Amino acid sequence: SIELKDVSKSFGSVFALRSTSLSVRKGEFLTLLGPSGSGKSTLLNLISGGYPASSGRILLNGKDITNAPPRQRGIGMVFQNYALMPHMTAFDNIAYPLRVRGYSKDDIRTKVTDALARVGLTGFENRKPKQLSGGQQQRVGIARCIVYSPAIIMMDEPLGALDKNLREQMQDEIKILHREIGTTFIYVTHDQEEALNMSDRICLMNNGGIVQLGTPDELYFQPISRFAAQFIGESN
Ligand code: ATP
Ligand code: MG
Repeated sequence: SIELKDVSKSFGSVFALRSTSLSVRKGEFLTLLGPSGSGKSTLLNLISGGYPASSGRILLNGKDITNAPPRQRGIGMVFQNYALMPHMTAFDNIAYPLRVRGYSKDDIRTKVTDALARVGLTGFENRKPKQLSGGQQQRVGIARCIVYSPAIIMMDEPLGALDKNLREQMQDEIKILHREIGTTFIYVTHDQEEALNMSDRICLMNNGGIVQLGTPDELYFQPISRFAAQFIGESN
């Protein structure tokens, strides 16, 4: 599980995240949902160690990771823009986190082959990113994240650059992946339909704070504020 205790982040005079406490259960699919600028990416970056918290504590399975170096946290990230290395093949992109962790050649071959199969890309290992479609590139991004079995998987608007049909298909694929590997997922979107479809619980954010935390049904049928009702009820 992951626990945030009174965590806040400011950039100069901007409060990106106000004092926030949140507990993510082991194995759950939690979605951070909220409008642009509400603090979703800031929250992910504080958990991953992208930048330090201004105050508060972050615990991973009971262990304080507030100031731990990013690589030691065991947290995998998937980004909206894929962030693949353009000069490397799919295989080498996926192998990268294993190489930096010193895995053996045999281990790397086995794990990358398994990760490629999980995202439906067997046979694509020698393609470079620009020889792959957007959806395929993001599948490589997901494979690179799951390949070293991180304790937590975080995805920041991973489907944001894809068209609606592909988005819906990949929502299903990500849900299946979550069910298969059973890892805790923290997923970010500003699309309320995506959040309602995918999540065990939704954490609705606005203005750097949590507005409401609950199941999709709770947010849909029992919004606690006008903002929650309007944001969840909106359709894109
Ligand atoms: P989006 O949906 O547009 O990605 P978000 O919910 O992820 O938005 P954040 O990126 O967390 O929002 O930003 C929260 C607030 O913090 C915004 O007001 C943003 O301008 C500010 N902010 C974020 N990162 C920085 C930074 N590096 N320096 C200064 N301000 C920042
Ligand atoms: Mg963001």
